[in-house]
Amino acid sequence: MTQFPIANGELLVSGLPLSRLAARVGQTPFYAYDRQLLNARVAELRRALPDAVELHYAVKANPMPALVAHMAGLVDGLDVASAGELKVALDAGCDPIDISFAGPGKRDTELEQAVAAGVLLNVESETEARRLAEISARLGWPARVAVRVNPDFELKSSGMKMGGGPKPFGIDAEAVPALLAEIGRLGLAFEGFHLFAGSQNLRAEAIVEAQQKSFELALRLSEAAPAAVRVVNLGGGFGIPYFPGETRLDLEPIADNLARIADDAARRLPDAKLVIELGRYLVGEAGIYVTRVVDRKVSRGQVFLVCDGGLHHHLSASGNFGQVIRKNYPAAIGNRADAAADTVATVVGPLCTPLDLLADRMALPDAQPGDLVAIFQSGAYGASASPQAFLGHPPAIEVLV
Ligand SMILES: *Cc1c(COP(=O)(O)O)cnc(C)c1O
Repeated sequence: MTQFPIANGELLVSGLPLSRLAARVGQTPFYAYDRQLLNARVAELRRALPDAVELHYAVKANPMPALVAHMAGLVDGLDVASAGELKVALDAGCDPIDISFAGPGKRDTELEQAVAAGVLLNVESETEARRLAEISARLGWPARVAVRVNPDFELKSSGMKMGGGPKPFGIDAEAVPALLAEIGRLGLAFEGFHLFAGSQNLRAEAIVEAQQKSFELALRLSEAAPAAVRVVNLGGGFGIPYFPGETRLDLEPIADNLARIADDAARRLPDAKLVIELGRYLVGEAGIYVTRVVDRKVSRGQVFLVCDGGLHHHLSASGNFGQVIRKNYPAAIGNRADAAADTVATVVGPLCTPLDLLADRMALPDAQPGDLVAIFQSGAYGASASPQAFLGHPPAIEVLV
C-alpha cells in the first residue's frame, strides 16, 4: 500500500533513508512529506484529466507552509477555509485571483481580509452575502463571490457527506435563485458556483454521478445568475485507500465524464472555467508520521510498542477523526522495513488513555526501543487535525523532503 521505496532495510523519503532523516530532523516524532511523491501525484492527475479542468489544492488537508508553497507551484489555485489558511496561501505566492475561500461562519474580520486580498469568496448564507456587501461598501470595491450550493442530492458512499439534506454548508439549491437576485442588487461581483458534496470517496461512479449532477444544477442555477458564470467548482471528494480491502480510485471514468462536462460547458457556459478541488488525494499518500519506540512491553501475552508519539499528533490514525469502526492505518517499522512481519504488536502512544492507539494487533517485524514506527497515508489530516496540546507532550515537527 505504500509508495515509499525500501533500500537496505530502510524506508526512503525522497531518497533519504529514514534513520538518517530522523537524525537530520533531530527529534521524533515528526511528519515527513515527500516532494517527489507530491510531484508524481499532480503529474498523474494532469495526465488523466482534461486540460480544460483546473486543479485546486484544498489547504485544509495539510496547511504546512512549505508544502502549500510547493503545491502552489504545481496546481492552478488554492482553496482556503479560514483567514489563517488565507495567509498561508498568500505567503505561498499564489495569485489572489486563483484563491477561493469557503467555509461556514466566516467572521467579519475574515471577510474583510479576503475582500481586501481580492480572493473569491464562496458565500455560505444570505446573511454572509449582506455582510459582504457592507464590507465592500466600506472598503470601496466589490467582493468577488461565488455561491456555495447545498445540492439537492448526496455524494453516495462518501466518507463524509457535506451536501444534500439539511447542512450548515452552502445555500440550499432551492433558495439560490433568490440569493442570486439579492447578490445582483447588492452589487457584489458574482463569478459562479461552488458545489462540494463530500469527501474520501473511492467509488468512481459515485463521483461521476455527483459531478454530473453538480454541473447540471449549476447550469439550471445559471439562468438566474446576475452576471456571466465564470467559474463552476465541481468539488472533489477523491479518496485514498487506507485500509485492507480498499481499492484505489479509478480516475478514468471520472476523466471521461469531466471531458464531456467540459464540452458541454464550452457551449452552454462559454465564459466559465471548471475547477475541481482536492485535498487528501493530492497530499495524503505523500506523507508519513514517524515515532520512535520508547518501550516494549508484554502484557498477558500481547506485545505493546510504546512510542513517543500518538493520537495527540495523529488523531486520524488513532481512529478518532471521523471513523465509525476503528481500523489500522498501514504501518511499518521504518528501519527494519524488509524484515519479516513475524510479530503481532500493538503500537500505542505515551498518553494515559486507551484511545491512544496507532496500530492494534498488527503483524510487524520484531521491534525494539529505538526503532522507528512509520504510519503511512499521513500527509493529510495529520498534524493540523490533531489535539497537539493534549497531555502536554511536545508537538510533532513537520518536514518537506
Ligand atoms: C474538506 C474540503 C475539501 C478537501 O477534502 P478532501 O477530502 O481532503 O479532498 C475540499 N473542499 C471543501 C469545500 C472542503 O470542505
